[in-house]
Amino acid sequence: MSNPARSLPPDQIARLSAAIDARRDDLIALTQALIRIPTINPPGAHYRDICEFLKTRLDGAGYQVELIRAAGARGDSDAHPRWNIVARRPGVAPGDTVHFNSHHDVVETGSGWTVDPFGGLLRDGRIYGRGACDMKGGLAASIIAAEAFAETVPDYRGAIEISATADEETGGFGGVAYLAEQGYFSPERVQHVIIPEPLNKDRICLGHRGVWWAEIETFGRIAHGSMPFLGDSAIRHMAALLGRFESELYPALAEKHTAMPVVPPGARQSTLNINSIHGGQEEPEAGYTGFPAPVVAHSARIVIDRRYLIEETPAAVRQEVIDLLDGLVRDRPGFRYEIRDLWTIPPTLTDREAPVVTAVSDAIRAVLGLEPDYVVSPGTYDQKHIDRIGRLKNCIAYGPGILDLAHQPDEWVGVDDMLDSARVMAVALLRLIGPATP
Ligand SMILES: [Zn+2]
Repeated sequence: MSNPARSLPPDQIARLSAAIDARRDDLIALTQALIRIPTINPPGAHYRDICEFLKTRLDGAGYQVELIRAAGARGDSDAHPRWNIVARRPGVAPGDTVHFNSHHDVVETGSGWTVDPFGGLLRDGRIYGRGACDMKGGLAASIIAAEAFAETVPDYRGAIEISATADEETGGFGGVAYLAEQGYFSPERVQHVIIPEPLNKDRICLGHRGVWWAEIETFGRIAHGSMPFLGDSAIRHMAALLGRFESELYPALAEKHTAMPVVPPGARQSTLNINSIHGGQEEPEAGYTGFPAPVVAHSARIVIDRRYLIEETPAAVRQEVIDLLDGLVRDRPGFRYEIRDLWTIPPTLTDREAPVVTAVSDAIRAVLGLEPDYVVSPGTYDQKHIDRIGRLKNCIAYGPGILDLAHQPDEWVGVDDMLDSARVMAVALLRLIGPATP
């Protein structure tokens, strides 16, 4: 780990800053080129294309480049293989490895665009397109930061790594999770990870809340709809559960507050979303013009998305819902249920004094003259795999762009914001792997 007392010489900061300014046009062109590869997920399109594009770029900049397919991982198929790229540029002396990890997938465009979502339009200092802020702008900024650093400080220690990974938008199992399982994020290989997600250039994201997804099914007995008393409606049983959610669970969740600095502040408590509800008769096939048949619902299902706090335990979060269900078994004749856990991820919170946090904090102060803002994300991102599978705790999200624009129509990233955050990344590199004798 680096010496936390290492000072930041102003002349070197000025040289790094100038090297980044000199790459302004390159940064714009790189961001546009990345946006023009429509890596929409699902299904996971053009992953190989974007990895090949990046390989060409990084090969030429002195990196050892690997293209890695997450063969057999969730989401991987021959039609849509999950390709990832990991590039490593060693320094001249032993030292830490600093890794910049970006996801290369983007979500669908949706409606409401006034520009071409894959055109990469540059207008009034903004670059537009799907993935501009989430997070091809951050990927481009980290590449430019690393190239400017390697040119300005050729005698750096340790190594710089840059990765672009698949499937963050759908859980990251064919991306960072796979790479972490293969040892790419083990603490022996990598000591500092920066994920350039769009958190704003003066913010450091230390982690995220926990998540528990589950499917709950209630059961009934089918009967003729004109004599529902001869059956038992699974939908009414589900309605009783939803009633208890409203009267008991939601008020209880609103009382659970966290000390984690989650943004937006509305997420500084436990939350529950009912992601979907299905019950009774199946939807008719397309083209069916008849009416539904009168039947009592024999099954109803909901999928719940419960986000929890570092102050809670996963067992207690689950038990709270089980207690409501078991209460209904006691109180409500015929109430039967099953619950199936879909997935769970514990909360993650990197220490405020961790080396990567202090390095980026000092870089924000030196470059922007601002006190950094420390935040926590309401939802998970790839840090979950780096922490949980890679066992690497020294990880943050830091990158350009405004989080609220992610997944929206007319998504954009500001060129000046990318340049500023690239400066911060380069100065953080200086702090973490600068020359042993400056
Ligand atoms: Zn993202």
